[in-house]
Parts: sequence; structure tokens; C-alpha cells
Amino acid sequence: QPELAGDFGTLMVWADKVRRLKVRANAETPLDARTARDFGAEGIGLCRTEHMFFDANRITAVRQMILAEDEAGRRAALDRLLPEQRKDFTELFDIMAGLPVTIRLLDPPLHEFLPHEEEEFAEVAAAAGVAVDVLKRRAAELHEVNPMLGHRGCRLGVTYPEIYEMQARAIFEAAVDVAEKSGAAPLPEVMVPLVATRRELELMKAVIDRTAEAVFAEKGRRVDYLVGTMIELPRAALMAGEIAEVGAFFSFGTNDLTQTALGVSRDDASRFLTSYVEQGIYPKDPFVSLDVEGVGELISIAKERGRKTRADLKLGICGEHGGDPASIAFCQATGLDYVSCSPYRVPIARLAAAQAALKRS
Ligand code: PEP
Ligand code: MG
Repeated sequence: QPELAGDFGTLMVWADKVRRLKVRANAETPLDARTARDFGAEGIGLCRTEHMFFDANRITAVRQMILAEDEAGRRAALDRLLPEQRKDFTELFDIMAGLPVTIRLLDPPLHEFLPHEEEEFAEVAAAAGVAVDVLKRRAAELHEVNPMLGHRGCRLGVTYPEIYEMQARAIFEAAVDVAEKSGAAPLPEVMVPLVATRRELELMKAVIDRTAEAVFAEKGRRVDYLVGTMIELPRAALMAGEIAEVGAFFSFGTNDLTQTALGVSRDDASRFLTSYVEQGIYPKDPFVSLDVEGVGELISIAKERGRKTRADLKLGICGEHGGDPASIAFCQATGLDYVSCSPYRVPIARLAAAQAALKRS
């Protein structure tokens, strides 16, 4: 792995000697994954698979999947998406060469996948063999007033399990292929988003495990993997003891956890948060620097309750806060295992993690 050069590289070596927190990166493209490794990331902490679906070659199939009226229609679209997803994961596993890769199953704000232009509807109609009017009716049915609190995350997987099944198949097929041709077996960590209850994770884990077994049987080879969840809803943090009975790791999605704990829309917050910070209501923008008293307390509760159930529960953070030095100090003090941040923030996170460790000693 190339190391950062010169004095900065030396500083990084020193930082790595004292830090205890691992540093991973949020990445879904080969370019981001390579950048992350060049900057010293020790794995991928969040691969947002929905970003892969916006690719110009796939968006029509994705829209076809979302707008299909039945499982057969969705499966027809998913069959077209499977080879693309397999290629996505093969590339990431190759680049990460045996380091852990946390792949988050689809978490779309559904509205971003819906077609709007006539031309887009026409493309889906041609691909699906369905009339434009039917698709428009279906799109109207799927419209949500508040998509961020709507049919997203594992709610999509619970209602349409074949979507998560396709993604799990792509992950395990890619993992087995890479394990076969390279010495370093990939370490997939399959992550279920927006979980609020134990039962949701249980249902989704069953789909993932069943698919893994099917792929391993077909290929005559197994790979190790973990199934875990994002903790990004206050209910999930409070129910962490139960949820840890099912999931082997938690990754705190502090963007959504901040949004849902504070009741502040992450997309509209800037309108009033500046004034809130000026008036001392929050010391800093809570979407940039963790609200330690509120959101941080939820993280501490989840850690306590989760680890009580499962002593080796792996804990990380993958919201924007994972690259913020003050939030990283909180993660160190709370005893998380790793932070995950944008590739370009990896060196900052390595330094911040070292500083936080030194302060404690
Ligand atoms: C989060 O909610 O903190 C998170 C990492 O997921 P996303 O930003 O994709 O919702
Ligand atoms: Mg989220």
C-alpha cells in the first residue's frame, strides 16, 4: 500500500502508533476506494449501494424495479441489475484486498428513483413492456409527503425482500470469486439500514444468510462474513440489547440519528441552525459536530446495551461526524472500534484519533 510521503507521512506513522480507533472510509466507487487506501483507510465502513444505482446504464432498470406492480416484475429488473452489482463488489473487494468492506443494502429515498420526465417514463415503459399510464399511476401511488421518514432503508427490504436478495447474491458471488483468484479472502460486512426493531433485522438477516448458503453451495466455496445494522433511529439505540442478539456489528448513522433525535430535517436544517448556534442553543452545527449530550448519549446507551448482549459487538460510526475531530474524540472516549469518513478526511481522522488517545493517557 502506498504511504503518504515526506513529513506528513512521518506524522501519520507516529499517529498510527498511538491511536486505538481504526479508521475506515465511506466509499462506493473504485476511485474512492483507491483514494481511501492511499490515505491509509483500514477498510470501507460504508458503501452506500443506492449511489451505484444512479449510474446512467442502470437507472432505467432501477426505475423498472421500483415501479413494478408485482414480484415477477421486480425480479425481471433485478436480473438485469445483478451482473452490474456483482462487478461493483468485485472491484471493491479487489481494491480492499482482504480488509473489511461494509456494504449497506439499498437505502433509497424512493422519490429520487422515481421518473419525472416523459422521456424517463417512456424508457421504463419500453424496458418493462408496460404502458406509460400504468407507470404514472404507480409512481403517483409511491409518492410520499416525507420520504426521509418513509419507505426507505430496511422497510424496502421487508416489503420487497427480492431486492436485498439480489444484492446479497451479488456480494457473495463477488466475494467467492475474489477469494478464489486472490490470496486475500474478502471480508464482507452486510449492513441493514434504518432498523428500528429486532424483528426487522431478523427478517433481513434470514434473507442474507439464506442467499449466502445458496451461493456457497453453488460455488463449492465459503467466505466469512458478518451481518449487522446501522443504528440511526433513537428506537434502535434504546433497543440495542435486543438488536445485538441478531446483529454482529452496529454502525452509528449519525446523520439520520441527529435528524431523528433532534427532530430537525437534515435537508432543511441550515435555514435556522446558524441562528441556533449564534444563540448558544447548540455549541456547533449538530450535523457537523456530534451533539454529545443528546445523540452522543444515545450512542453510549446503545453501546452499553449492545455489548451487554454481545461482548464482541463491533462498533463504528459512519455519519459525517466520523471525519470531525471533536466527534472522533467522543468515539474514542465512548469505546467505539472505528470511525468511517470520506476518503479525503482519512488522514485527519488518523490524527484526531491519535490526539484523542494521547489526551486520555
Ligand atoms: C447516516 O444516516 O448517518 C448515514 C451514514 O447514512 P446516510 O447518510 O446515507 O443516510
Ligand atoms: Mg442514514
